[in-house]
Amino acid sequence: MAEQWIYMNGDYVTKDDAKVSVFDHGFLYGDGIFEGIRIYDGNIFRCKEHLDRLYDSAKSIMLDIPLSYAEMQEALVETVRRNGLRDGYIRLVVSRGPGNLGIDPQRCERAWVIIIVQQLAIYPEEAYRDGLRSISVSQRRNIPDALSPKIKSLNYLNNILVKIQSNLAGVGEAIMLNAQGYVTEGSSDNIFIVKRGVVYTPPTYLGALEGVTRGAIMDLCSRLGYAFKEEPFTLHDVYVADEVFFTGTAAEVIAVREVDGRVIGEGHAGPVTTRLLEEFRKIVTVEGVKVF
Ligand code: PMP
Repeated sequence: MAEQWIYMNGDYVTKDDAKVSVFDHGFLYGDGIFEGIRIYDGNIFRCKEHLDRLYDSAKSIMLDIPLSYAEMQEALVETVRRNGLRDGYIRLVVSRGPGNLGIDPQRCERAWVIIIVQQLAIYPEEAYRDGLRSISVSQRRNIPDALSPKIKSLNYLNNILVKIQSNLAGVGEAIMLNAQGYVTEGSSDNIFIVKRGVVYTPPTYLGALEGVTRGAIMDLCSRLGYAFKEEPFTLHDVYVADEVFFTGTAAEVIAVREVDGRVIGEGHAGPVTTRLLEEFRKIVTVEGVKVF
């Protein structure tokens, strides 16, 4: 990539000029929201779903986004166009903006909108065939009535603590339970299991983000005729599943071959996971907003 152009509040600046105030409440308090979006062959995949989630997150935390929905979409398209990137990743951040050192968001003048477009480091192809090793961790998912995991907020410490645990264990992704012991999601991916031909994912009210990839997989299940249930399950169900996989914008659909030392199914990507990944990769260049 030649010069990287970053959208900042309506201007396009170079990486070196893209600076945020130390008084920004996103920086000081994690007060803000974000989206991680993929561009596949010049197509912003499921752009609408990402923007819907962004505006829902903003409404929930009473953050006024200074751009209309249409203006935001145009800013995304224009930032991708200026960077000339056909395949890559978009990070869209809306922070509460600079304020004083107190937490009060009323002291912040206006929200800051930042769009970064760049290449993405993805899992090697063999990881999709072999599957990841995973563990469950002791950190519980934020309870929804404290801070809803449906809000894609800049406060990711809950997830980061889980990532630290998975790094220590040398695994690619970890599984978080909620306070009741039900499986919720990974540190930055949703989770699915397959048992006797039925595909399951936890309902998001248990404490999970409404992943855009998760939504795409749910749609694919119905299109491909897989029985699908959004239903609570426990670690036991994960251990004895025929297949387990994570979904996320960066990870796409990635199989899990081992959880807490239990080998899942045949110990590599199973047929349902493989098919869903194949079909997912067909829709990523089609569904969304075309830039090039
Ligand atoms: N859960 C969490 C906590 C996440 O941060 C993400 C985003 N990487 C996901 C799930 C997956 O969501 P999406 O498919 O929209 O990327």
